[in-house]
Amino acid sequence: MAGWWDTHAHLDDEQFGTDLPDVLLRARAAGVEQIVAVGITAASSRNCLALSQRHDFIHATVGIHPNEIQQAVPGDWEQIRQLAQSPQVVGIGETGLDRYWDKTPFSIQQEWFARHLELGRERNLAVVIHCRDAENDVVLMLREAFERHGPIRGVMHSFVGSLETARACLDMGLHLSFAGMLTYKNAANLREVAAQVPLDRLLVETDCPYLAPVPHRGKRNEPRHVLHTGAELARLHGLSPDQLAEQTSANAARLFGTVKHP
Ligand SMILES: [Zn+2]
Repeated sequence: MAGWWDTHAHLDDEQFGTDLPDVLLRARAAGVEQIVAVGITAASSRNCLALSQRHDFIHATVGIHPNEIQQAVPGDWEQIRQLAQSPQVVGIGETGLDRYWDKTPFSIQQEWFARHLELGRERNLAVVIHCRDAENDVVLMLREAFERHGPIRGVMHSFVGSLETARACLDMGLHLSFAGMLTYKNAANLREVAAQVPLDRLLVETDCPYLAPVPHRGKRNEPRHVLHTGAELARLHGLSPDQLAEQTSANAARLFGTVKHP
């Protein structure tokens, strides 16, 4: 049996207070072999790194989420840059653009997204990209980076965009990661897009504790539920869940690099 990667989990979220050890045990028992713990603030990035140092199946990303920028204090970015040098850090982000929540002036979001892209390039780490109601804006900034520097090492996380956006991102070298929405009844369009993504660019994630897939929709999400999204993605591609796990895990290992605890 091939193991799964949950490529996007907010393991340091307060919803995983005291029972995180149980959550991790359940994930491992269900066949989730690797988890990427994604930072959203300087403090959260530190927590994710600490988790990755305690467990060799957890990998960390460090960054400041577009909706958290207003809470950042001087020195936070320098800390992200410093954390990014740790060997357990496999990615930069979560970064990106968000017009839905409107928590940070858009031009400031763009400035921070550009910073994260640059840091990812500098350290040759995958950039973890959040995009909500801002597809064109994200593609525009990615294209600018792509035209200057070539293919972008990174992932459009919890992808819900159009086929056109998917193609634009794939053309620039990005991976697309699908979360629980793929299993929702009203997500026929998203399933159509997911079915057309080349196998070697697919990833799966939970984005837990949010966005639990069917049949856990509405409850706290956790890494083991990645299997439901994975099964749906397998069905869309005419593969067995095991084949899909093998493929997406190989993709994740390649994208994030698995140089762990050297
Ligand atoms: Zn996230």
